[in-house]
Amino acid sequence: MSTRRACVMGWPVKHSRAPIIHGYWIDKHGLDAELRLEEVRPEDFGDFLAHLGERGYVGGSATMPHKEMALKLTEPDARATAIGAANVIWLDNRTLRSTNSDVAGFVAALDETAPGWDKGADKAVVFGAGGAARAVIYGLLERGVERIHVHNRTIAKAHALRDRFGPKVVATTDHELSAALEGAALVVNAASFGMHGNPDLDVDLASVREDAVVADVVYVPLETGLLRRARARGLRVSDGLGMLLHQGPGCFEKWFGVRPVVTRELRERVERSLAGA
Ligand code: NAP
Repeated sequence: MSTRRACVMGWPVKHSRAPIIHGYWIDKHGLDAELRLEEVRPEDFGDFLAHLGERGYVGGSATMPHKEMALKLTEPDARATAIGAANVIWLDNRTLRSTNSDVAGFVAALDETAPGWDKGADKAVVFGAGGAARAVIYGLLERGVERIHVHNRTIAKAHALRDRFGPKVVATTDHELSAALEGAALVVNAASFGMHGNPDLDVDLASVREDAVVADVVYVPLETGLLRRARARGLRVSDGLGMLLHQGPGCFEKWFGVRPVVTRELRERVERSLAGA
Protein backbone atom coordinates (compact mmCIF):
# COMPACT_ATOMS: atom_id res chain seq x y z
CA MET A 1 0.00 0.00 0.00
CA SER A 2 1.21 3.50 -0.75
CA THR A 3 1.77 6.26 1.79
CA ARG A 4 -1.38 8.20 2.73
CA ARG A 5 -0.68 11.91 2.54
CA ALA A 6 -2.52 14.96 3.80
CA CYS A 7 -1.48 18.60 3.78
CA VAL A 8 -1.98 21.86 5.63
CA MET A 9 -2.91 24.61 3.17
CA GLY A 10 -2.19 28.13 4.32
CA TRP A 11 -0.62 31.46 3.37
CA PRO A 12 1.75 31.66 5.14
CA VAL A 13 2.05 28.18 6.64
CA LYS A 14 5.70 27.64 7.63
CA HIS A 15 4.96 28.44 11.29
CA SER A 16 2.41 25.58 11.56
CA ARG A 17 2.94 23.05 14.36
CA ALA A 18 0.68 20.53 12.58
CA PRO A 19 3.60 18.36 11.32
CA ILE A 20 4.81 17.92 14.92
CA ILE A 21 1.32 17.00 16.14
CA HIS A 22 0.35 14.67 13.31
CA GLY A 23 3.88 13.25 13.00
CA TYR A 24 3.66 12.24 16.67
CA TRP A 25 0.40 10.37 16.06
CA ILE A 26 1.66 8.78 12.82
CA ASP A 27 4.62 7.35 14.78
CA LYS A 28 2.43 6.28 17.71
CA HIS A 29 0.11 4.32 15.41
CA GLY A 30 2.90 3.04 13.16
CA LEU A 31 1.15 4.34 10.04
CA ASP A 32 2.57 4.72 6.56
CA ALA A 33 1.37 8.33 6.38
CA GLU A 34 2.67 11.86 6.05
CA LEU A 35 1.51 15.41 6.68
CA ARG A 36 3.00 18.10 4.48
CA LEU A 37 2.81 21.89 4.52
CA GLU A 38 1.57 23.54 1.33
CA GLU A 39 1.95 27.27 0.94
CA VAL A 40 -1.04 28.18 -1.25
CA ARG A 41 -1.84 31.75 -2.28
CA PRO A 42 -5.50 32.75 -1.93
CA GLU A 43 -5.86 33.11 -5.72
CA ASP A 44 -4.52 29.56 -6.23
CA PHE A 45 -6.56 27.86 -3.51
CA GLY A 46 -9.53 26.84 -5.72
CA ASP A 47 -7.28 25.18 -8.29
CA PHE A 48 -5.17 23.49 -5.60
CA LEU A 49 -8.25 22.04 -3.94
CA ALA A 50 -9.80 20.93 -7.23
CA HIS A 51 -6.70 18.79 -7.87
CA LEU A 52 -6.08 17.62 -4.30
CA GLY A 53 -6.39 13.92 -5.19
CA GLU A 54 -4.21 14.26 -8.28
CA ARG A 55 -1.56 15.86 -6.09
CA GLY A 56 -1.50 12.66 -4.04
CA TYR A 57 -3.51 13.79 -1.03
CA VAL A 58 -6.39 12.04 0.75
CA GLY A 59 -7.32 15.32 2.42
CA GLY A 60 -6.02 18.44 4.03
CA SER A 61 -6.59 21.16 6.51
CA ALA A 62 -7.34 24.75 5.57
CA THR A 63 -5.81 27.40 7.74
CA MET A 64 -5.64 31.19 7.45
CA PRO A 65 -6.81 32.67 5.13
CA HIS A 66 -8.59 29.76 3.42
CA LYS A 67 -11.25 28.55 5.89
CA GLU A 68 -14.17 30.46 4.39
CA MET A 69 -13.24 29.58 0.81
CA ALA A 70 -12.86 25.93 1.86
CA LEU A 71 -16.50 25.98 2.93
CA LYS A 72 -17.62 27.28 -0.48
CA LEU A 73 -15.54 24.85 -2.51
CA THR A 74 -16.46 21.62 -0.70
CA GLU A 75 -19.53 19.72 0.56
CA PRO A 76 -19.59 20.95 4.17
CA ASP A 77 -21.40 19.25 7.05
CA ALA A 78 -24.01 21.07 9.17
CA ARG A 79 -21.44 22.25 11.71
CA ALA A 80 -19.11 23.90 9.17
CA THR A 81 -22.12 25.48 7.45
CA ALA A 82 -23.45 26.92 10.73
CA ILE A 83 -20.03 28.37 11.60
CA GLY A 84 -19.36 29.66 8.09
CA ALA A 85 -15.87 28.12 7.90
CA ALA A 86 -14.36 24.70 7.19
CA ASN A 87 -10.88 23.62 8.27
CA VAL A 88 -10.90 19.84 7.70
CA ILE A 89 -11.21 18.53 4.13
CA TRP A 90 -11.16 14.96 2.90
CA LEU A 91 -11.87 13.08 -0.30
CA ASP A 92 -14.86 10.74 -0.16
CA ASN A 93 -14.56 8.89 -3.47
CA ARG A 94 -14.33 11.93 -5.73
CA THR A 95 -16.28 14.31 -3.51
CA LEU A 96 -14.47 16.85 -1.34
CA ARG A 97 -16.18 16.92 2.06
CA SER A 98 -15.46 19.25 4.96
CA THR A 99 -16.17 19.98 8.58
CA ASN A 100 -14.95 22.32 11.30
CA SER A 101 -12.84 20.84 14.10
CA ASP A 102 -12.07 24.14 15.89
CA VAL A 103 -15.30 23.81 17.90
CA ALA A 104 -14.39 20.35 19.20
CA GLY A 105 -10.87 21.62 19.92
CA PHE A 106 -12.07 24.54 22.00
CA VAL A 107 -14.63 22.53 23.97
CA ALA A 108 -12.35 19.53 24.56
CA ALA A 109 -9.61 21.83 25.88
CA LEU A 110 -12.10 23.34 28.34
CA ASP A 111 -13.30 19.87 29.39
CA GLU A 112 -9.72 18.80 29.99
CA THR A 113 -8.51 21.80 31.97
CA ALA A 114 -11.74 22.85 33.69
CA PRO A 115 -14.01 19.80 33.96
CA GLY A 116 -17.61 20.75 34.74
CA TRP A 117 -17.12 24.27 33.33
CA ASP A 118 -20.56 24.13 31.69
CA LYS A 119 -22.53 23.30 34.85
CA GLY A 120 -24.60 26.39 35.55
CA ALA A 121 -22.58 28.38 33.00
CA ASP A 122 -25.35 30.81 32.22
CA LYS A 123 -23.29 33.78 31.02
CA ALA A 124 -20.13 34.07 28.92
CA VAL A 125 -18.23 37.04 27.53
CA VAL A 126 -16.38 36.46 24.23
CA PHE A 127 -13.89 38.96 22.80
CA GLY A 128 -13.60 38.89 19.01
CA ALA A 129 -15.99 38.20 16.16
CA GLY A 130 -13.82 36.50 13.53
CA GLY A 131 -13.44 32.83 12.59
CA ALA A 132 -12.18 31.66 15.99
CA ALA A 133 -15.02 33.50 17.75
CA ARG A 134 -17.62 31.78 15.55
CA ALA A 135 -16.26 28.35 16.54
CA VAL A 136 -16.15 29.36 20.23
CA ILE A 137 -19.72 30.68 20.19
CA TYR A 138 -21.03 27.58 18.41
CA GLY A 139 -19.36 25.36 21.03
CA LEU A 140 -20.72 27.39 23.95
CA LEU A 141 -24.26 27.32 22.55
CA GLU A 142 -24.00 23.58 21.90
CA ARG A 143 -23.03 23.07 25.56
CA GLY A 144 -25.99 25.08 26.82
CA VAL A 145 -24.58 28.51 27.71
CA GLU A 146 -27.63 30.77 27.96
CA ARG A 147 -26.23 34.18 27.14
CA ILE A 148 -23.07 35.05 25.23
CA HIS A 149 -21.92 38.66 25.21
CA VAL A 150 -19.73 39.37 22.19
CA HIS A 151 -17.42 42.36 22.36
CA ASN A 152 -15.52 43.29 19.22
CA ARG A 153 -13.56 46.28 17.92
CA THR A 154 -15.93 46.36 14.93
CA ILE A 155 -19.35 46.11 16.57
CA ALA A 156 -21.12 45.38 13.25
CA LYS A 157 -19.39 41.98 13.21
CA ALA A 158 -20.77 41.20 16.66
CA HIS A 159 -24.26 42.07 15.37
CA ALA A 160 -23.69 39.74 12.43
CA LEU A 161 -22.97 36.91 14.90
CA ARG A 162 -26.30 37.54 16.61
CA ASP A 163 -27.98 37.25 13.19
CA ARG A 164 -26.10 34.00 12.55
CA PHE A 165 -26.53 32.31 15.95
CA GLY A 166 -29.70 33.86 17.40
CA PRO A 167 -30.80 35.91 20.42
CA LYS A 168 -28.61 34.16 23.01
CA VAL A 169 -25.76 36.12 21.41
CA VAL A 170 -25.67 39.76 22.51
CA ALA A 171 -23.48 42.34 20.77
CA THR A 172 -21.91 44.27 23.63
CA THR A 173 -20.48 47.79 23.45
CA ASP A 174 -17.59 49.24 25.53
CA HIS A 175 -20.19 50.92 27.68
CA GLU A 176 -22.04 47.64 28.41
CA LEU A 177 -18.95 45.56 29.04
CA SER A 178 -18.57 45.90 32.82
CA ALA A 179 -22.20 44.83 33.38
CA ALA A 180 -21.65 41.86 31.04
CA LEU A 181 -18.57 40.74 32.99
CA GLU A 182 -20.33 40.89 36.35
CA GLY A 183 -21.07 37.32 37.43
CA ALA A 184 -19.82 35.83 34.13
CA ALA A 185 -18.99 32.11 34.30
CA LEU A 186 -16.67 32.22 31.32
CA VAL A 187 -14.45 34.82 29.65
CA VAL A 188 -12.88 33.96 26.29
CA ASN A 189 -10.37 35.85 24.21
CA ALA A 190 -11.14 34.77 20.64
CA ALA A 191 -9.46 37.83 19.07
CA SER A 192 -5.79 38.45 18.30
CA PHE A 193 -5.21 40.19 21.65
CA GLY A 194 -2.10 39.01 23.45
CA MET A 195 -0.60 37.37 20.36
CA HIS A 196 3.04 38.43 19.80
CA GLY A 197 3.05 41.95 18.40
CA ASN A 198 -0.53 42.65 19.52
CA PRO A 199 -1.73 44.51 22.61
CA ASP A 200 -2.93 42.51 25.61
CA LEU A 201 -6.64 42.19 26.32
CA ASP A 202 -7.10 44.79 29.04
CA VAL A 203 -10.16 43.49 30.84
CA ASP A 204 -10.97 43.69 34.54
CA LEU A 205 -11.72 40.21 35.90
CA ALA A 206 -12.63 41.43 39.42
CA SER A 207 -16.39 40.95 39.03
CA VAL A 208 -16.57 37.54 37.29
CA ARG A 209 -17.78 34.51 39.26
CA GLU A 210 -15.39 33.04 41.83
CA ASP A 211 -15.41 29.74 39.90
CA ALA A 212 -15.21 31.36 36.46
CA VAL A 213 -13.04 29.92 33.70
CA VAL A 214 -10.90 32.14 31.46
CA ALA A 215 -9.93 30.77 28.05
CA ASP A 216 -7.67 32.09 25.31
CA VAL A 217 -7.42 30.94 21.69
CA VAL A 218 -3.99 32.56 21.27
CA TYR A 219 -1.06 30.16 21.81
CA VAL A 220 1.96 32.30 20.95
CA PRO A 221 2.85 33.11 23.67
CA LEU A 222 1.52 30.12 25.56
CA GLU A 223 0.55 32.21 28.54
CA THR A 224 -1.04 35.48 27.48
CA GLY A 225 -1.38 38.45 29.81
CA LEU A 226 -5.07 37.59 30.20
CA LEU A 227 -4.33 34.06 31.41
CA ARG A 228 -1.61 35.29 33.72
CA ARG A 229 -4.01 37.72 35.39
CA ALA A 230 -6.74 35.08 35.59
CA ARG A 231 -4.37 32.65 37.33
CA ALA A 232 -3.28 35.39 39.72
CA ARG A 233 -6.94 35.90 40.63
CA GLY A 234 -7.25 32.13 41.30
CA LEU A 235 -9.43 31.38 38.27
CA ARG A 236 -9.19 28.23 36.15
CA VAL A 237 -7.68 28.79 32.69
CA SER A 238 -7.68 27.05 29.32
CA ASP A 239 -5.01 28.05 26.78
CA GLY A 240 -4.92 28.20 23.00
CA LEU A 241 -2.50 25.29 22.72
CA GLY A 242 -5.14 23.03 24.27
CA MET A 243 -7.55 24.09 21.52
CA LEU A 244 -4.93 23.60 18.81
CA LEU A 245 -4.05 20.09 20.03
CA HIS A 246 -7.63 18.96 20.52
CA GLN A 247 -8.77 20.06 17.05
CA GLY A 248 -6.23 17.59 15.61
CA PRO A 249 -7.86 14.19 16.26
CA GLY A 250 -10.88 15.15 14.11
CA CYS A 251 -8.56 15.84 11.16
CA PHE A 252 -6.34 12.81 11.66
CA GLU A 253 -9.29 10.42 11.82
CA LYS A 254 -10.76 11.72 8.55
CA TRP A 255 -7.45 11.35 6.71
CA PHE A 256 -5.90 8.27 8.24
CA GLY A 257 -8.84 6.30 9.71
CA VAL A 258 -7.61 6.19 13.33
CA ARG A 259 -8.67 8.47 16.19
CA PRO A 260 -5.55 9.54 18.13
CA VAL A 261 -5.40 11.03 21.62
CA VAL A 262 -3.81 14.18 22.96
CA THR A 263 -1.20 13.19 25.54
CA ARG A 264 0.94 15.09 28.01
CA GLU A 265 4.01 13.99 26.01
CA LEU A 266 2.58 15.52 22.81
CA ARG A 267 1.74 18.76 24.56
CA GLU A 268 5.27 19.02 25.95
CA ARG A 269 6.71 18.39 22.51
CA VAL A 270 4.71 21.27 20.99
CA GLU A 271 5.46 23.49 24.00
CA ARG A 272 9.18 22.98 23.36
CA SER A 273 8.73 24.02 19.73
CA LEU A 274 6.88 27.17 20.86
CA ALA A 275 9.49 28.14 23.43
CA GLY A 276 11.12 31.28 22.12
CA ALA A 277 8.65 31.56 19.20
P1 NAP B 1 -9.92 36.76 12.24
O1 NAP B 1 -11.08 36.05 11.66
O2 NAP B 1 -9.05 37.61 11.38
O3 NAP B 1 -10.48 37.67 13.47
C1 NAP B 1 -9.59 38.47 14.20
C2 NAP B 1 -10.34 39.05 15.41
O4 NAP B 1 -9.40 39.81 16.21
C3 NAP B 1 -11.44 40.04 15.01
O5 NAP B 1 -12.45 40.00 15.98
C4 NAP B 1 -10.68 41.38 15.07
O6 NAP B 1 -11.53 42.50 15.27
C5 NAP B 1 -9.82 41.18 16.27
N1 NAP B 1 -8.64 42.05 16.28
C6 NAP B 1 -7.53 41.92 15.49
N2 NAP B 1 -6.64 42.90 15.77
C7 NAP B 1 -7.20 43.65 16.77
C8 NAP B 1 -6.78 44.81 17.50
N3 NAP B 1 -5.59 45.39 17.28
N4 NAP B 1 -7.60 45.31 18.45
C9 NAP B 1 -8.80 44.72 18.69
N5 NAP B 1 -9.26 43.64 18.03
C10 NAP B 1 -8.46 43.12 17.08
O7 NAP B 1 -8.91 35.74 12.93
P2 NAP B 1 -9.29 34.36 13.67
O8 NAP B 1 -9.15 33.25 12.72
O9 NAP B 1 -10.57 34.55 14.40
O10 NAP B 1 -8.06 34.25 14.69
C11 NAP B 1 -8.03 35.02 15.90
C12 NAP B 1 -6.94 34.43 16.79
O11 NAP B 1 -7.28 33.09 17.11
C13 NAP B 1 -5.56 34.36 16.14
O12 NAP B 1 -4.61 34.73 17.11
C14 NAP B 1 -5.40 32.89 15.77
O13 NAP B 1 -4.05 32.48 15.78
C15 NAP B 1 -6.17 32.23 16.90
N6 NAP B 1 -6.69 30.89 16.58
C16 NAP B 1 -6.31 29.87 17.39
C17 NAP B 1 -6.80 28.59 17.16
C18 NAP B 1 -6.35 27.48 18.06
O14 NAP B 1 -6.51 26.30 17.68
N7 NAP B 1 -5.85 27.77 19.23
C19 NAP B 1 -7.69 28.34 16.10
C20 NAP B 1 -8.08 29.42 15.29
C21 NAP B 1 -7.56 30.70 15.55
P3 NAP B 1 -12.23 43.25 14.01
O15 NAP B 1 -13.41 42.40 13.63
O16 NAP B 1 -12.59 44.58 14.53
O17 NAP B 1 -11.18 43.30 12.91
